[in-house]
Amino acid sequence: MITSPELRSRSLLRTEARARAAGLEVHRVLVELDLREPAADTFPCRTTLEFSSTAAESFVDFKGRVLGRAVLNGRELETESWQQGRIPLDGLRAQNTLVVEGEMAYSSDGEGLHRHVDPADGATYLYAMSFLDAGPRWFACFDQPDLKASYRFEVAAPEDWTVLGNGPSVSAGPGRWTITPLQPLSTYFVTLVAGPYASVHVEHDGIRLGFHTRASLRTELEREAPEMAAVTGQSFDYYHRLFGVRYPFGEYHQAFVPDFNAGAMENPGCVTLRDHFLYRGRATKLDRGGRASVIAHEMAHQWFGDLVTMRWWDDLWLNESFAEYLAHRCCSEATSYPLWTEFGIRRKHWGAVADQSPSTHPVAGNGAADAAAALQDFDGISYAKGASVLKQLAAYLGEEVFVAGLRAYFDRFAYGNAEFAELIAAWTGAGAVELEAWAAAWLRTAGMDTLDVEGERPTVTVVATAPGLDESPRTHALTVGAVDVDGGVRGLADLNLRGRSPVLTVPDGTALVVPDLRDATWAKVRFGPDGWAQVGQVLPRLDDEAVLVVVYNAVRDAVREASLGSAEALELVCSSLGRQRSDALISVMGSYAAVSLAGPYSPVEERAERLSRVHAVAQEVLAGSAAGSDRQLTGFRLAVPTSADPDLLQRWYDGQGLPEGLELDSELTWAVVRRLVALGGDPAVIEQTLEHDRSSASAEHAARARASIPTRAAKDAAWRLLISPSEASAYEVYATAGGFWVAGQEELTEPYVARFFAEIGTTADFRSGWALGQVAETAFPSLAATAGAVRAAEDLLASDLAVSVRRAVVDGLDQLRRGVASLEHGG
Ligand SMILES: [Zn+2]
Repeated sequence: MITSPELRSRSLLRTEARARAAGLEVHRVLVELDLREPAADTFPCRTTLEFSSTAAESFVDFKGRVLGRAVLNGRELETESWQQGRIPLDGLRAQNTLVVEGEMAYSSDGEGLHRHVDPADGATYLYAMSFLDAGPRWFACFDQPDLKASYRFEVAAPEDWTVLGNGPSVSAGPGRWTITPLQPLSTYFVTLVAGPYASVHVEHDGIRLGFHTRASLRTELEREAPEMAAVTGQSFDYYHRLFGVRYPFGEYHQAFVPDFNAGAMENPGCVTLRDHFLYRGRATKLDRGGRASVIAHEMAHQWFGDLVTMRWWDDLWLNESFAEYLAHRCCSEATSYPLWTEFGIRRKHWGAVADQSPSTHPVAGNGAADAAAALQDFDGISYAKGASVLKQLAAYLGEEVFVAGLRAYFDRFAYGNAEFAELIAAWTGAGAVELEAWAAAWLRTAGMDTLDVEGERPTVTVVATAPGLDESPRTHALTVGAVDVDGGVRGLADLNLRGRSPVLTVPDGTALVVPDLRDATWAKVRFGPDGWAQVGQVLPRLDDEAVLVVVYNAVRDAVREASLGSAEALELVCSSLGRQRSDALISVMGSYAAVSLAGPYSPVEERAERLSRVHAVAQEVLAGSAAGSDRQLTGFRLAVPTSADPDLLQRWYDGQGLPEGLELDSELTWAVVRRLVALGGDPAVIEQTLEHDRSSASAEHAARARASIPTRAAKDAAWRLLISPSEASAYEVYATAGGFWVAGQEELTEPYVARFFAEIGTTADFRSGWALGQVAETAFPSLAATAGAVRAAEDLLASDLAVSVRRAVVDGLDQLRRGVASLEHGG
C-alpha cells in the first residue's frame, strides 16, 4: 500500500497516447465503488480492466489518494512504482486482467467524484465529472479518448439514494446498484450521479427520460420538467430526422447538479447540468431559450462526440463547434426558441473577443501536445467561431451534401473514433469539391477578416481583408444589403464573396450599406468612411434583428480596437436600445454599456455619469413594457445594477414602488441586495436575506454581495478568500471574485490591483483544474485600465505561471491595453 496525498499527476502527451493506443485494446472495465460512508474523506474503489496488448509494457492512470494494490494477471505489482498518477505495467500478455484497488478522494472542485452537502437540509450529493482527464481521480483507467471500452458499475450506497450512470441502473438489493452502459465509452464521459436525488420521469418515442436534482430543488424541478421534457423530445425528433441514426445509449437522464463548473457535460445517457437551470426566480423566454440551447447542445454530442469520438484532444473543437451549431439550428427549427439573434449578439461576440486576443488560434488543428494544452484552446473560438464557420460550410456545401456527409461519417465511425480529415473525406465522398482549400482558409488560420464598404454612391464595393494579407483567402457566403432612412431593409446581392465584390448599385434613399445583412458570416463589419454617422442616423428606426446584431457587434469591435470612441458608442447604444423589442439585445447590450462603456473604456471620473445614462435606458424599457412582461423583467434586471440610488433600492427591497406586475423573487432580491450594499447600504441586509433563504444559491449570492461592500474590512476578507486556501465552495469563491471589483470603488480597491499581480500566481499552490483558471480570470482587475496595471501584468507574464493562470493574465492584459488605448484616443 502507498499513500501519496502530495501526488502531482502528469498530463498525457499526444505521443504517449498514440503509443499506448497502438499497443492496447481495452475490452471490459468493471468498476466497484463503495459509497456507504459519504462523510468520509475517501471511498474504496476496485477497477478490473480486461485488455489485449501487443506491447510488453504500458501504464494505467490512477489518481487516487491511496493505492492499495495492483494485480496484473495474478501478479502483485510494486505499489511504489506508482508515480505522477501512473502505474507502470510490464510483462503484458496478449490477454490481460488488471485489478487496481485504492482509496479515492471525494472532490470539492467539480472534477472527479464531487461531493456537495446541501446547506438547505444537510443531505449529501455526489456526481462524477471525468472531463478532461479527471476519470482516474475516481477509477483506474486508460485515460484517453480513443481507448473505448465496455463498462459495468457495481455500487454500494446508502439505501435511500438514487444511483445513475451511463446506462440502465438496476437495484441489486438494498443499497446495491448495477449499471451497465449499452455501448462502449471513452473515459472522459464516464459518469455517476448518486445521492437522495429528486426525480421526474417521462417517456418520449420509446426513450425513458429522467430529470434529477437535489431534494431541496424538487419544487423547481417539478415546475420546470414539462417544459424541459418538451424541448428534449423536440430535439430527439430533430436529430433523428437529421442524422438518420437513432440515439444509441438507451435511457436519457439529465441531472441538475450543484457546484458544476461548466454549463453542462454530455455524458452519454446521463448528462450533467448546472442547477441554475432550475430557475429559482422568474425566467424570461430568453432564459428558457438559453436552457433549451444547452439541452439541444448536450444531446447533439450524443452523436457528435459520444457515438463518434475524436481520436485526440486537438479535435475537441469539432465536438463543440458542431454541438453549438446544431443546437442553435435545432432550437430555431424545431422548438419555440428561435436563437440566432442570441447567437449573434452573445455567442459570436464571445468568440470574436477570443479571436482578436493574443491567445487566438485556428479553429482546427492546434496540435495539442498534451491534454492540459488542449484545454487552453477550449474557448469562444471552439464554440462560437466554429459554429459560425460550420454555418458557412453548410451554405457552401448545400444542405444535401452537408447532411449526407454527416450521415456517412456516423455510419462509418459509430462507436469508435475519428479525426477531422475523416469528416472532410466523408463530405468529399458525398460530393463536396475543393473542401481542403476551404478548410485551410477557414479552419487552419486564426483571426477575423474585415468586411468594409468602398466607393461613391450610388455604386459601392464590399471588400474583405485579412490581417496582414492584401486579400482574404476566405469565401464569405453572405447578402449585401441596404438600410434606408426610415429603417427599411433590403437585400442588394447574394454573394460568395472573396476579396472584392462586383460593383453594386445602391438604391435612392439608402442611408447605410450593410456588408453582411443576415449576420451570416464570421467577420468584423464596417460601413465605409462615414459609416458611424450613417449608423447613428438609422439606428433609432431600425427594427431588423439581424442587422441590429451586425451593427451592435461592429460597435463593440470598433471600441475594442479604439477606432470608435467609447462616448460615441455609448450614445449609439443608449439612443437606440430603449426601443428594442428583443430581450436578447436589451439584456446583452445594456449589460455591455454598463460593464464596459461605463467601466474600463471610461475615464474613472465619467463612470458614474455613464452608468446613469444606462440606467435611464433601463427606466425607458420599464416605462415602455407591459406589466408582468419579459421585457419589463429584462428592464428591471438592468435597472438594479445601474442604479446609484440606495433609497430607491431600499424601497424595492422593502417591496415598495416596484413597477406594476413585478415582484421580487429570490434572485431579484439578491440583485437588489448586492447593489444596495455596493452603494454603501447597511450590510445587515445580507444576513437578513439569508435568514429567509438558506440555499446554496443564496450562499453564493451572499458571497458576491459581501465582496461588494465598500469597506476595507470587507475587501480584505474577500481577498483572503480569493488568494488563500479555504473550505468555501468553488461557486462561493467565483462569486466573491465576481463581486470584488465595482466601478465607483476605484479608490478603495486600488491597492488590490498590485496585489492581484503579486499574489495570483501563488493560487496554483492550492487550486487546480478549472477552478484555478476561473478564479484568475474572474478576479482579474479589468477596471484598472492604467499604464501601471499594464506593466504589472507584463511583469507577471515574464515569470513562471501555471498555464491556466497565464492564459487568464494574457487575455486580461489584452483587455487592459485596449482600455488604455481607447482612453488615449479620448474615451
Ligand atoms: Zn459541448
